[in-house]
Amino acid sequence: MPYVRELQARIRELAERKGAIILAHNYQRTEVQEVADFVGESLSLAKKALETDAELIIFCGVDFMAETAAVLNPDKRVVLPEPASTCPMAAQLPASLVREAKRRYPGVPVVLYVNTLAEAKAEADVICTSGNAVEVVRSLEADTVLFGPDRNLCWHVQRHVPDKKLIPIPEAGYCYVHKLFTPEDVLRLKEERYPDAELLVHPECDPELQLAADFVGSTGQMYRHARESALSTFLVATEVGLVERMNRELVGKRAVPAKSDAICAEMKLITLEKILRALEKEGPVVRLPRHVMERAREAVERMFELMEVLRREAPSAR
Ligand code: SF4
Repeated sequence: MPYVRELQARIRELAERKGAIILAHNYQRTEVQEVADFVGESLSLAKKALETDAELIIFCGVDFMAETAAVLNPDKRVVLPEPASTCPMAAQLPASLVREAKRRYPGVPVVLYVNTLAEAKAEADVICTSGNAVEVVRSLEADTVLFGPDRNLCWHVQRHVPDKKLIPIPEAGYCYVHKLFTPEDVLRLKEERYPDAELLVHPECDPELQLAADFVGSTGQMYRHARESALSTFLVATEVGLVERMNRELVGKRAVPAKSDAICAEMKLITLEKILRALEKEGPVVRLPRHVMERAREAVERMFELMEVLRREAPSAR
């Protein structure tokens, strides 16, 4: 531990000296989350990247997240400490597949999950996160929507927006981490060991598990739900990094992993040593073609606009 603390102190000192901000996703290693200025889910990290005055953003997440930060901040240096930290699900939807779907379904709007590479985002009409996908799709006027890449998130949206037809692109995109949760194992664990726990499930999990859940939501929504719930024990079906964060920060609550080996290997590639090196070298910087940046930014900003409109409408709708 002294070595970890020493590295963390060096990182903080260097980040402050350089005026850099360190952003970390909920699935990052505990020691990485501890050293970050801000820890959260994709949407809140994207917003932080947009709001910050820092010229140097050290992004502890996977490729598409750092790309999103770069897209929103074309004049800043966005650094991904480990370029091999790539999301296998995002790789399942190359831009060529989106273009092919658009040719096949002309005029049908494309909603892409933020878990896509910038090149694919550049082909989308609007981006969504797991936390706002239902609202984004519901707000569109079209009856039919192309949605990708996660098939389970697509199912979740279709469940809550039954009056529209969602067409998944690709046919069966998935996150290998969330595929690890089987309803049989999770429900047996709940029944045998945690009968009083609330079951919190990420919408990238299979539909059968979502149907059995007490609450389905993004990592940020799960965190807030547990914080505000009157209950104290939660069985959490998502990557273990969120469970560790909940146990560290939510005093009086207990989060139990629904599967203790549900680990995103790509997220864990970022280490304190790599963050320190990234700060020292101010690299590797995320670089994207200008036209990709511009078109991807339009799709992400459209999501922010929609969320703002929905937020303004919410009080009068009640
Ligand atoms: S948890 Fe799944 S969706 Fe998230 S970065 Fe890892 S592979 Fe990609």
